[in-house]
Amino acid sequence: MMKPNPMQHRRLSLDTLTVHAGREDFAEMGVHAPPIDLSTTYPTGPLAEASASMDALASGGRPTGSPIYARLHNPTVARYEAALASLEGAEAGVAFASGMAALTAVLLAGREKGKNHVVAVRPLYGGSDALLEGGLLGHEVSFVAPDGIRAAVRRDTALVVLETPGNPTLSLVDIEDAVRQADGVPLVVDSTFMTPVLQRPLEFGASMVLHSATKFLGGHGDVIAGIVATSEEWATKLRKVRVLTGALLHPMAAFLLHRGLPTLAVRVRTAQDGARMMAERLARHPQVTSVHYPGLPGHDPRGLVGRQMAGPGSILAFEVAGGFEAAGRVLEAVQIMVSAVSLGATDTLIQHPAGLTHHCVPDEARESTGISESLLRISVGLEDPEDLWADLAQALEKAGAKEPARTAADTSALTR
Ligand code: PLP
Repeated sequence: MMKPNPMQHRRLSLDTLTVHAGREDFAEMGVHAPPIDLSTTYPTGPLAEASASMDALASGGRPTGSPIYARLHNPTVARYEAALASLEGAEAGVAFASGMAALTAVLLAGREKGKNHVVAVRPLYGGSDALLEGGLLGHEVSFVAPDGIRAAVRRDTALVVLETPGNPTLSLVDIEDAVRQADGVPLVVDSTFMTPVLQRPLEFGASMVLHSATKFLGGHGDVIAGIVATSEEWATKLRKVRVLTGALLHPMAAFLLHRGLPTLAVRVRTAQDGARMMAERLARHPQVTSVHYPGLPGHDPRGLVGRQMAGPGSILAFEVAGGFEAAGRVLEAVQIMVSAVSLGATDTLIQHPAGLTHHCVPDEARESTGISESLLRISVGLEDPEDLWADLAQALEKAGAKEPARTAADTSALTR
């Protein structure tokens, strides 16, 4: 007999949910770890029942009987989707082959007759920016700053899209304010940098929350995935797009994501402790001209940390004296940190947004959002922060050897 689902009786804390969500039917199934169903097709049984299930699935619903075919529904993926939905306080989750596939599905699902306009708040991850800027999906896009949403929204606006914190400058958007400005237009928040441990955008009025699950949700640098948590109504539209376009998450990837979920909160908070320390020390370093981190004094003018976010997270960015050349020397000199794009892994990753993740963003947009040639982004991992700091300090020293170092007296304005 299936045990009562505790999640139906009281709202459990997030730490408990990370451990138990999506596992409610394990006892009934007699398993303890997420089972992996690799079937591509399923025995259909009586035709009338199978046909009814097909009907439901093809229109983005849930199976009423046999899953029919894995592009339409996979139980391993569905279990992970349910888990993530419960962490975000959503009715449903819909998982995709990547974060970009998730954004593509959102843009396609948001499209209605006569509504082809998207308002996008910059900065965004370079790939998201390029998808919107390039017009591949046929949308007309207005790029705005956070306070420009209201003026940009039109009668034909289908969606407002934003990231907070924004990649790579960690700029924050007040989600409640953005929802007010959107004035009824559905708002999508890319919350990849935060995870539901630190931010749950649906609680502030967003219609959809999107994650590149490749990052913290996967957490170990071995899965490419995306997921959207939202209402059942939006999820139905998203699943329909997924059925038609085929960008579904592979069940092995869903297994890895579900397997990693119980340690999510521990990973996120431990990495955050390291990032705080790193940001504070970088802010005092003579080779560093600015630091971007929501946890530093003066970096959160709207007071979002504590209200919208449970913490500043573990991504930070900083500008190094000496521009592109010096930034390149830092990347070459690090020994523990890995010079690589991506973020949210167990190890610390450092990269140069203007040259890599945001290379495809138009020059003017990079300049206006502060993605300079001297900017480096760090995703702090789970190593001992003192080891990380020693590594970064020696790399900065090497980078500075060819540049006149700033004096300590010059650094008072660094925590801007
Ligand atoms: N959103 C953000 C904030 C990202 O950083 C990324 C990738 O770096 C994406 C979306 C795209 O995700 P994926 O690489 O999983 O397609």
